[in-house]
Amino acid sequence: MVYYSTRNNLKGVPSAAAICEGISPEGGLFVPETIPAIGAEEFAALRNSDYRGRASAVLKKYLTDFTDEEIDGCVGSAYGENFENGEPAPLVKIGDKFYVTELWHGPTCAFKDLALQLLPRLLTAASGKAGGGRKSLILVATSGDTGKAALEGFRDVPGTEVMVFYPAEGVSAMQKLQMCTQSGENVYVCGINGNFDDAQTAVKRMFTDPVMISRVAGRNMRFSSANSINWGRLVPQIVYYVSAYCELANRGEDLSDGFDVAVPTGNFGNILAAYYAKRSGVPIKRLICASNKNRVLTDFMHTGTYSRNREFYKTCSPSMDILVSSNLERMLYELCGHDCERVADMQKSLAETGEFTVGSDVSESMKEIFYAGSRDDEQTLEIIRRFYRERGYLADTHTAVALGVCEDYIKSEGVGRPVVVMSTASPYKFAPAVLKAITGETVRGDEFDAIRELHNLTGKPVPAPLSSLKNRDIRFGNVCEKEEIPDTVLANL
Ligand SMILES: *Cc1c(COP(=O)(O)O)cnc(C)c1O
Repeated sequence: MVYYSTRNNLKGVPSAAAICEGISPEGGLFVPETIPAIGAEEFAALRNSDYRGRASAVLKKYLTDFTDEEIDGCVGSAYGENFENGEPAPLVKIGDKFYVTELWHGPTCAFKDLALQLLPRLLTAASGKAGGGRKSLILVATSGDTGKAALEGFRDVPGTEVMVFYPAEGVSAMQKLQMCTQSGENVYVCGINGNFDDAQTAVKRMFTDPVMISRVAGRNMRFSSANSINWGRLVPQIVYYVSAYCELANRGEDLSDGFDVAVPTGNFGNILAAYYAKRSGVPIKRLICASNKNRVLTDFMHTGTYSRNREFYKTCSPSMDILVSSNLERMLYELCGHDCERVADMQKSLAETGEFTVGSDVSESMKEIFYAGSRDDEQTLEIIRRFYRERGYLADTHTAVALGVCEDYIKSEGVGRPVVVMSTASPYKFAPAVLKAITGETVRGDEFDAIRELHNLTGKPVPAPLSSLKNRDIRFGNVCEKEEIPDTVLANL
């Protein structure tokens, strides 16, 4: 199996090179030449397997230049004790044919851990094959959760340095605290005066900037990415869709008409993994793409025009405050029949005019595969309150967006299939907003007061990685202008 760039599919590279490089030299994203199938017999075997067994099986199909021992080793150490009860993706029933997959039982309490506990291990193995003996400099742009998950995943991993850039005014207080108190000898964290898209654009540009590349090479280092533009971030995410299917089947759900999944979406990584899982043979019928008030994807799916020329809103689901969803490029590559020139034209138009329009062929297939909708903050808080009161389920602000859009979908399409909502963060990670949703009042005090109060009210256990932050010292308080990001990188090598 080789990997092509979405903007140039003449020369394939092995998966180790795709993971080491993160992004292709002309700015495209690496994609597998074909999407491997999982057969009925294999699914039957996976049903009897645990999460690690399922992860190893999926990874072996995509990372064919890794040995079985390498993959089993990476998976074994990534998905062990660092997840609560050794279960990275428990399926929770919250209603008739209505399920939630909780992806936040890892060290940073958000779903990014499922990929970022594994990626450093994959990258270490990949560097041995394709790294040319150079150290990896992992640059991360984050809307809040990726930064912390990358810091935890790469902390003190030999042969790596991690630098994280986050919007100084665009993440939750808890997210900021998680990052700014990070331990480890190989980490650096900096806020920027700008939003996530500014950080992501600056980081993506550095990866392909010859001057930056040579400066970094002069230190015997090479850039790599821990953002979901890196294929090594996406492939672990396919696993939990396979696993959700196995769990539904094991619980005796009728899957003769398949099932639907609902995903709170920002950079389009999570839902893209669902799409690959569907193409592999997981019987997912519709993919429900849920956005917050930054509803650029909802509008795109409804109209065929993607336009970032609009107001940017700061919402109570900050990890989805994104106007340029990078991974959409991979989806378009598939829907255009691997026509990389067409994809490159769309991206060029997006960069130059802030928008692009797809043809009716792409638009039609998109509507068949996806259902799209959005929720604003007020609606999000109402959903949290209602799901807690009526079902006893405590959702965070991101998950709530997906729960709400999922309700729309069921109402308007009248589907009788089981549906699984991807729950992407612990409610305690966004405790002030969740508490406000339930009590109707703004909390006095800081986020730890909110956590305590939310716990007293609901009795739901508080994840230790959050409560233990209270007494940690701030290590990284710096903020820079977005134009200063490259210099900040060079100054901190
Ligand atoms: C990152 C994130 C999302 C968005 O996921 P994408 O893969 O970027 O679409 C949603 N919810 C939470 C809590 C996140 O951290």
